[in-house]
Amino acid sequence: MTKKKNSSSNKKKTYKKSIKRKYRKPQRKTNKAKKRWKQWKERISRFELCITLAVLLAAFLILRIHIMKYFRADIAHPENLSGVNEDSDSSGGKVLPAEEGPCGRPEIRQLFLTPNSYSRSRIPLKKVKGVVIHYVANPGSSAVDNRDYFESLMETHETKASSHFIVGLSGEIIQCMPLNEISYASNSRNRDTISIECCHPGKDGRFNDRTYQSAVQLTAWLCYTYGLDSSKVIRHYDVTGKMCPLYYVRHEDAWKEFKNNVQKHLDKAG
Ligand SMILES: [Zn+2]
Repeated sequence: MTKKKNSSSNKKKTYKKSIKRKYRKPQRKTNKAKKRWKQWKERISRFELCITLAVLLAAFLILRIHIMKYFRADIAHPENLSGVNEDSDSSGGKVLPAEEGPCGRPEIRQLFLTPNSYSRSRIPLKKVKGVVIHYVANPGSSAVDNRDYFESLMETHETKASSHFIVGLSGEIIQCMPLNEISYASNSRNRDTISIECCHPGKDGRFNDRTYQSAVQLTAWLCYTYGLDSSKVIRHYDVTGKMCPLYYVRHEDAWKEFKNNVQKHLDKAG
């Protein structure tokens, strides 16, 4: 009888164990599921964090591009200066065709200097408040000669000198750098002016007719573009007292006439 009892109690125990196992297994499963869910949650939150960081980074980059664009826009280049601030290859040069109108852009050949700290430092020209007229002080030299002299400073380190434009003896105009960069021509006014060097046949520094007409047209176009009147057209002499442009320092009436001619173009353009 005892054996039978024992066997029955054993049966009960195994039954209980089996029940326990039956209920333990799913419990373990739910624990595992919970753990997995926790892990997933962690992973998701990391994922979300990554996404947020990526979005922030993208937003920052987009913002930075817009800020750069804004500052570049602030750097001197009004809409009608298309082309003059684009980089050109300095070998053959790019020719910007003349535009019609009393203050239209004259034909410009771009022979940009190689960036270097002696003639083209690429310092931004943020605002244009005037146009400065110079003479090259080298009778009979051509626009290209003078442009090449500026280029040579990169090697010789002789001095710091350059100009945005050089008007040649045939009235040709060479642009040496974009108009949103400063030139080394007008001392303290480098920071807020565009410079124009003019070639001349004689020692007196007087411009010939073709140089004169091109210089007037170029100056008028720049004044019109930057919203300046002829009172903002000055000589190098007006900045430092240097005898430049020589003839137009010695002959005040000729200088007044030059400015009057620029103003006539501006008046015609309205
Ligand atoms: Zn000068």
